[in-house]
Amino acid sequence: MAVVSLIDSPTTMHDSFGRHLHYLRVSLTDACNLRCVYCMPEDIVFRPPATLLQDDEILTLVRVGASLGVDKIRLTGGEPTVRRNVVELAREIKAIPGIQKLTMTTNGVKLAELARPLAEAGLDSINISVDSLDPAKFRQITRRGDLSDVWRGIAASVAAGLTPIKLNCVVTRGFNDEDVVDLARLTINNAWEIRFIELMPFGGTSDFQESQVVSSAETRARIEASLGPLAQEPGHNGHDPARPYRLPGARGIIGFISSVTEPFCEGCTRLRLTADGKLRLCLLRDDEVDLMTPLRAGADFATLQRIFADGAYRKPWGHRLEQHEIAHSREMSQIGG
Ligand code: SAM
Repeated sequence: MAVVSLIDSPTTMHDSFGRHLHYLRVSLTDACNLRCVYCMPEDIVFRPPATLLQDDEILTLVRVGASLGVDKIRLTGGEPTVRRNVVELAREIKAIPGIQKLTMTTNGVKLAELARPLAEAGLDSINISVDSLDPAKFRQITRRGDLSDVWRGIAASVAAGLTPIKLNCVVTRGFNDEDVVDLARLTINNAWEIRFIELMPFGGTSDFQESQVVSSAETRARIEASLGPLAQEPGHNGHDPARPYRLPGARGIIGFISSVTEPFCEGCTRLRLTADGKLRLCLLRDDEVDLMTPLRAGADFATLQRIFADGAYRKPWGHRLEQHEIAHSREMSQIGG
């Protein structure tokens, strides 16, 4: 049965709840140079490159999205900077008509060399994941990372003007729940945004994630006990998952992303394109639309537009963690956070 056409004008796309979908997170690879304990099993096997979208295929699907009103792209992964050609790909994505904002989420390990070329290619801003300022704990969480690489990456990003710098910290009980104070302290002298993310359960690591989750309320109380009261920042954009606060006199902002305890599905404008060519409709639900198969079978642009928009229309309202319904089909690294 034909699905009702969902392209309500040539340049806007909505889901069945009326949410305006204009932000696409594009996973460039499921591979990563780190193995964070909360993100993937240590012995994970990455997909063979031939099974992933090739550069021209990514560009076609971003063009399809842009023709439907997507105006913001975030490059993610896996680790986006390990993809060969990431700079050229960024340049070509930014040049697609309709794409106004290009951002990236990265672990920062390769940014010392890549921040400037990426900025020159058109990257507007960057989110860097760093879960602890203690080198030993950082290595324990990432199972192999060197914190000094990330610091050099942050410095290179500041120098390249990839601002505002946002640092992401996933708070994991028993690993870095006490480190949030040192991270929060960074906002006193730096005009950065440090975002504390609640651990979300996925795939084969979900038992660990459920048992180690730390609520934003607990993280906030810990920060306030050491650094003073946090004041809510005015003007929160309901589409930004991070709820912003500020320490007294601080230059930067502290954000809380409370996906588990205070979901923000109502303001969600996001879709995700996985590295193997599926349109993932909600981070925490397994509903996906296959774009790779029709693309490789030679579907024309209009057909891809219809598949994309019809799929987007079926975006679920949100997750069902409170009913203990967990998305099991993929690890976080295979979705693109
Ligand atoms: N490799 C890049 C990075 O480290 O930022 C991009 C991909 S990573 C999957 C994107 C973000 O998802 C990171 O900030 C990471 O910390 C976060 N993340 C991974 N697993 C998560 C989980 N189970 N719950 C919440 N956030 C998670």
